[in-house]
Amino acid sequence: MRKGKLFVVSGPSGVGKGSICSEVIKGDENINFSVSVTTRLPRAGEIEGIHYFFRKKEEFENLISENSFLEYAKVFDNYYGTLKDYVFEKLDKGENIILDIDTQGALNVKANYSEAILVFILPPSLDELKSRLMNRATENESELKKRINGARAEIKKAINYDYIIINDDLNKAICDLKTIIYVEKLKTDKKVIENILEEEI
Ligand code: 5GP
Repeated sequence: MRKGKLFVVSGPSGVGKGSICSEVIKGDENINFSVSVTTRLPRAGEIEGIHYFFRKKEEFENLISENSFLEYAKVFDNYYGTLKDYVFEKLDKGENIILDIDTQGALNVKANYSEAILVFILPPSLDELKSRLMNRATENESELKKRINGARAEIKKAINYDYIIINDDLNKAICDLKTIIYVEKLKTDKKVIENILEEEI
């Protein structure tokens, strides 16, 4: 059996990466989001083991000292992290996984697991990203400026990624991510070749 692939998808806030990843996962039963560990409290409707593994701060810190994370970060006073065992067990079973994390987390994953495939979702332009954020109408003007500056900083890191997708058309962007996954599955795999050669005839 072929080992699963780990895809890490990043992109600035408002670029539409959540919609792209969700659509790709909906159409492919062999790919799923990774479930992270967090110290934040569950929101209404969130289920343990489905949305997150909810843990106390001390438990999270124990996991850090046991070197259990592929990567972790502190976001707004809460910890978030990706468990090595969770990811590697799935990959060993041949399941493919998508991590939806920021550029810092993505580069940490790559440093710890070089086979990870990094995909960056770009907006067609910063102006278009600003319009999309304005249409969401969830941010005021200074908040908006912060987001755009944050986007600039994130986009600078895209150079370290294996693939970039420009989300100027949602359906095309979904198709692009599916294509990347398809092509990556065709990559030369030593195990597959060895399995055939081991066959007795
Ligand atoms: P929320 O609390 O809204 O679910 O997530 C807050 C932020 O934490 C989001 O930007 C999300 O991408 C990030 N996040 C969720 N899980 C992880 C993780 O495992 N690692 C890192 N580095 N960030 C995460």
